[in-house]
Amino acid sequence: MPSSSPETTVEDLAAFVSAAPTPYHAVAEAVRRLSEAGFTEQPESGEWDHTPGGRYLVRDGTVLAWYTPPNASPTKAFRIFAAHTDSPTLKIKPNPDTGTAGWRQAGVEVYGGALWNSWLDRDLGLAGRLARLDGTVVPVRIDRPLLRVPQLAIHLDRQVNQGLKLDPQRHLVPIWGLGPTADGDLLQYVADRAGLEADEIVAHDLVVHELTPPARLGADGELLASPRLDNLSSVHAGLTALLAAAESQPETVPVFVGFDHEEVGSSSATGAAGPLLEMVLTRLAGGAEERYRSFAASRCLSADVAHAAHPNYLDRHDTDHLAHMNAGPVLKTNANQRYATDAPGAAAWHRACAEAGVPSQVFVSHNNVPCGSTVGPITATRLGIRTVDIGIPVLSMHSARELCGAQDPAYLVAAATAFFVDPV
Ligand SMILES: [Zn+2]
Repeated sequence: MPSSSPETTVEDLAAFVSAAPTPYHAVAEAVRRLSEAGFTEQPESGEWDHTPGGRYLVRDGTVLAWYTPPNASPTKAFRIFAAHTDSPTLKIKPNPDTGTAGWRQAGVEVYGGALWNSWLDRDLGLAGRLARLDGTVVPVRIDRPLLRVPQLAIHLDRQVNQGLKLDPQRHLVPIWGLGPTADGDLLQYVADRAGLEADEIVAHDLVVHELTPPARLGADGELLASPRLDNLSSVHAGLTALLAAAESQPETVPVFVGFDHEEVGSSSATGAAGPLLEMVLTRLAGGAEERYRSFAASRCLSADVAHAAHPNYLDRHDTDHLAHMNAGPVLKTNANQRYATDAPGAAAWHRACAEAGVPSQVFVSHNNVPCGSTVGPITATRLGIRTVDIGIPVLSMHSARELCGAQDPAYLVAAATAFFVDPV
């Protein structure tokens, strides 16, 4: 089991979130940590390395990592931990330069189910990747207050507190300075920061990010306020647990995957509905017959944040299944398979928690408030591997700044480590 304290874990989570304003940066930080622990890259287009040890495979905003113990059987059991690297945000349009009334503005699309109001009046940075004509990609990250979506003064909309109405095409366009639109040229500005010429950039994937660093909150600092807890809290826990599991000489093959594009439905080449996880597991299994036997013995933990009981909106929750902060990760169930959990899968989760000495809670949504979904049902449908949906409770899910308990990240790491090495 990991020896790190809840304090160390939550600080390390905050560092991970700060290192990862976009899925590409989350993947780079994951690779940095994996390499430091001795994991080596398995190129997707290269010959498969079947020797024991830790490997990782990267495609764009998605990363997979696994540890094959020495003498692993051809019909080895996979213990998979699946999370997602992306978060709701505003994405810069291909031709971003716009503006009026003396303002330089940047055209954006909304990425995922963002709480739009939470992006108002925040000082925002810009990060992502730039592509050259030859297909090479350059990461970029601007961590100074550059953009802002300014709110309308209450004097100009006296009814605003009765219900804020935002049109994403008109009202979410960030300003990024003053001057004639023709001189705007956001991409020139970004190219300068990336050490490129503007005409080298033929395309880009750029999103805004919240600049206020993660911070402890509450009378005793018992909470963590941070951007992108959905779902970097799970990515961080899965990675940390994988490294701990690899050290403990498991009988199983622990596999971590952080998918991109969950917030927009997972249907993409690098999303959970795409082929990457199946491709890695199939190549790890070594043959068709072995693959089927391995899959039958395997299990997947689908980790994504859960809804903590909101004190001001308790009527939105099922009061017999409230999730509380710092009371352990939440087992998520849904009769209609919006979560993939079933009773035998739940038993595997409870076994991992018992082994790790971690408390756990059960969530089911209010019958009149349909819940969201996760990568769990998607990977379960693709692979037929028994899957359990879990995650730490948060408030303000999909806000630019979310809130979790400071103890829960360490609980999740400990339970995930026990799940990874569970031979049953
Ligand atoms: Zn999520």
